[in-house]
Amino acid sequence: MRDTFLPFGLPLVGNEEKQEILDVLESGWLTTGPRTKLFEHKFAEYIGAKHAVAVNSCTAALHLSLLSCGVTVGDEVITSPFTFAATGNTIVHCGARPVFADIDPVTCNIDPEKIEKHITSRTKALIVVHYAGQPCDMDRIQEITKRHGLKLIEDAAHAVGTEYHGVKVGTFGDTACFSFYPTKTMTTGEGGMITTNDDSIADMCRVLALHGISKDAWQRYSDKGNWYYEIMYPGFKYNMSDLQAALGIHQLDRLDEFITIRERYARRFDVGLAEIPWIDLPLVGTNIRHSWHLYPIRIKSGFGITRDELITKLREKNIGASVHFIPLHLHPYYAKTYGYKRGDYPFAEAVFESILSLPLYPKMDPSDIDYVIDSIKEFVTS
Ligand SMILES: *Cc1c(COP(=O)(O)O)cnc(C)c1O
Repeated sequence: MRDTFLPFGLPLVGNEEKQEILDVLESGWLTTGPRTKLFEHKFAEYIGAKHAVAVNSCTAALHLSLLSCGVTVGDEVITSPFTFAATGNTIVHCGARPVFADIDPVTCNIDPEKIEKHITSRTKALIVVHYAGQPCDMDRIQEITKRHGLKLIEDAAHAVGTEYHGVKVGTFGDTACFSFYPTKTMTTGEGGMITTNDDSIADMCRVLALHGISKDAWQRYSDKGNWYYEIMYPGFKYNMSDLQAALGIHQLDRLDEFITIRERYARRFDVGLAEIPWIDLPLVGTNIRHSWHLYPIRIKSGFGITRDELITKLREKNIGASVHFIPLHLHPYYAKTYGYKRGDYPFAEAVFESILSLPLYPKMDPSDIDYVIDSIKEFVTS
């Protein structure tokens, strides 16, 4: 029995990040500035996108993506019900209606088969979520959005470094949105990024991210700038600070190393848990690179063990587990406002009842992984 708590997620921050933050403090320029520009440049290059726009969360990235794709009052946006609050809430913030299409129960990603029956004359866009770090079926999804003239947004909060058929996710849609929240695969404390190959979408996101004004503060107050600006839209305060970018620059340098460790730990779980009859392990598709933001297992029915019992047992063993996700349509706001009810998305509901995410991050030791495996094995024999 370990005497310290093993949290569900922890960031791994090195000396380079710490030194860079001290350098930012010394420089006197704390808000959006040269380090944010450098982080955007490096991120665009890593993804293979023409533009990257840094913002203060993935939620902000989703909101700006929807607005710059022209989503407005009265539109409908189709997405997965098996996602975090931000994916649905930002659709609502645009005055649009969130419409869900059920998931493929194997990958937990939106099922392309289920999308088309939800398309109406009001449908403006589709947001796909690369669940746990496994890419959606982008060939079939792009075929659908092209044929129906829909905008396509990737919620890639779990998927920095994820690849689909050898190409990094982040340029399959009109925009992609990444999260640098501390439990995600790389962190800036809080932060997000929009990538796009579209010049006008990139410009729109930049303007909307800083009050809708025509020039950013860096250009206005540095020796290169002047005092004049114009408000083009009633924009938002979504910019990333150089303190956050200082973290991001070095986290990005180590991202592939982080993902390699995550892959190794995922395999260690695969092997260690393989013999347990009441658990289904996560399945990985072919010709993809999974970035393993999450390692979700499922409790099979018929063995008299529930997901909630296992989470409680793990907690008693000083292990933090979590559940991703409670389907959006079951939450009170979505049920009350849009009339969604239990039974509407049977696959998302069935997976939710049985799924839990085990701790998996580079700051863990292999012995931590083994401790989690042993604790689960113990549960079966107790
Ligand atoms: C974490 C997450 C977000 C939101 O990210 P923030 O950076 O915290 O705003 C959006 N979508 C999904 C699927 C997430 O897991």
